[in-house]
Amino acid sequence: MSTGRSFFALDRDEARARITELGGRPFHADVIRSEAIDRRNLDYAEMSSLSRELRSRLATELPLYSAEEVARSRTSDGTQKLLLRFPDGAAVETVHMPSRRRGRGATLCVSSQVGCSVGCPFCASGKAGLVRNLTHDEIFEQFLLGQALGPLARSVVMGIGEPLLNYEALRRALETVRSEIGIGARKITVSTVGFPTRLNRIARENPPFQLAISLHSPDDEQRARLVPAMAGIPIEEILSAGDNWFATTGREVTYEYVLLGGENDSEDHAERLARRLQNRRATINLIPYNPIPDDEFARPAADAANRFHDTLVQKGLVATVRWSRGAEADAACGQLRIQASPQHR
Ligand code: SF4
Repeated sequence: MSTGRSFFALDRDEARARITELGGRPFHADVIRSEAIDRRNLDYAEMSSLSRELRSRLATELPLYSAEEVARSRTSDGTQKLLLRFPDGAAVETVHMPSRRRGRGATLCVSSQVGCSVGCPFCASGKAGLVRNLTHDEIFEQFLLGQALGPLARSVVMGIGEPLLNYEALRRALETVRSEIGIGARKITVSTVGFPTRLNRIARENPPFQLAISLHSPDDEQRARLVPAMAGIPIEEILSAGDNWFATTGREVTYEYVLLGGENDSEDHAERLARRLQNRRATINLIPYNPIPDDEFARPAADAANRFHDTLVQKGLVATVRWSRGAEADAACGQLRIQASPQHR
């Protein structure tokens, strides 16, 4: 009888026990894992080293994974965005971005929650609010389905959700990604709005990933509007947690800054941001905003983005402008889910 749990929701011992119940031998669990992860074969029917009878029982009683791909969009540079729906109807987005250099492998952007409670007014996911946390296997399944589109070299946890608010499930999933898919600690970046107490605690564990903190403003008052869940937490406290992360793990922090046209993209903002980050070991990623439907925010002019960048560099900071690869084909954060699922509006 089906338990409703998929193969990748089970740990190794549970999987061996379940396969035995279904008439297989314990080592068949390892065969299935290897087929799915190493050979990127996600179809029991194609696992020819298993008996026909076992494959047919598995197909009906132990789904390999739980997500269903319900929509896909593509951009001209090969980026593919998947909308994945779980059995309870909850949906998330996962984006596969091939390297511009041949043979380098792709970067996968994964989601950590269904919706998000942080409430950033420029984000489609923030507008929908939090639906629920993803389980560790639902996070891992995004890697399984993502690598089926092409080998992965890197990952960023920058999709839907605030990763530090679902940290245990994320940590468990990333551990499997590191040990079984082989994406190392320096090739996985977790992006957070930067809850300082949580960051300080996590830094002590020296977890296997790089840290990015989304700042979006040099001013406490403006940041409270742009990142509502962080209202009342001073930017200096977040930067101190970033400093502590660097001191504890030896890995520099990246600060993410979404440039919103006419809102936070002036030279004055750049000067104030530079003052905040002066003398800190950090890189700043400037991300020109992609407007979402019915939006109160605008894409910044290219020359404003360039001026902002140049001001930071003149002040001695390391900064890059990252024009989003998701700007075409409904690929900005949260858009595919909102368009495919009117109930999330
Ligand atoms: S931008 Fe990130 S933190 Fe803010 S609401 Fe969207 S998913 Fe949440």
